[in-house]
Amino acid sequence: MGDVVQYPQGCARPRSTVGPRPPGVWGLDIGATKVALGTTAESGVKVRATVATPPSPEGLLPWLRSRLPHRLDGLGVAFPGGLDGHERVTSWPNRPAWDGFPLGKELGQLASAVVIRDDGEAAALGECRQGIAAGRRDVMVVVLGTGIGGAVVIDDRVRAGAAGDPRTLGHVRILGSNGCVCGAMGCAQTALRSLPSDDGLGPRLAAWPDGQRLIDFVADLARILDVQVVLTGGLMERPVLRYETVARLNSLGLIPLVPEHPGRSSLLGATVLERAA
Ligand SMILES: [Zn+2]
Repeated sequence: MGDVVQYPQGCARPRSTVGPRPPGVWGLDIGATKVALGTTAESGVKVRATVATPPSPEGLLPWLRSRLPHRLDGLGVAFPGGLDGHERVTSWPNRPAWDGFPLGKELGQLASAVVIRDDGEAAALGECRQGIAAGRRDVMVVVLGTGIGGAVVIDDRVRAGAAGDPRTLGHVRILGSNGCVCGAMGCAQTALRSLPSDDGLGPRLAAWPDGQRLIDFVADLARILDVQVVLTGGLMERPVLRYETVARLNSLGLIPLVPEHPGRSSLLGATVLERAA
């Protein structure tokens, strides 16, 4: 695989000093339902291509080869699953066929340098470096998608969690007896299962008790850690829920930040991972 690039821990960087990356550096966001390729642009990130996440990783490689430039200097990758020390997939509950796949080795064939990080961590870096949180030193990013990812940046450094695994944010047990894909009961991300469907006026937070507990959990964490909050992903793409969530966090004395491009924070982060070292 390509050279290992030192991972950037810093977050705060004035937006004015961060320009578009060279065209030879791309970002790849591998999500549970969608894979996206992008490059940085003045407005944040330019989406170059998307595709439904294939059931098996072997199905992704031909698509990547057909979309990426032949001479690629760097590839930053946001990935929600677990990896071992050789960047082989150890667990991805939504996609068991990916278990054991040598992700780092295979992607290393596509670029001179490859950096792979947890998607929540990538989202935090992306929003801090080129997004809505640029220049802030203390930020919590919560990604509500198929599951819940996220990361906390305190004093300009990404805090990866007690176990070095930022994905634990979605697996804090706050909801009683709901079974989770991780095998535990009551994980925070099981709240997403009871999210009402959108019906024109949209669901309201009051009609989603698990969602209220989830937002209160996020607010409590942010208040304990004394950080602002960025919420992004599926939930925040629903205008009514976004409005109500922002209002709720505001009422609790927090300063909620909404990404300029909801749903693209991880991709934005992927595009800055490799070059931000
Ligand atoms: Zn869980």
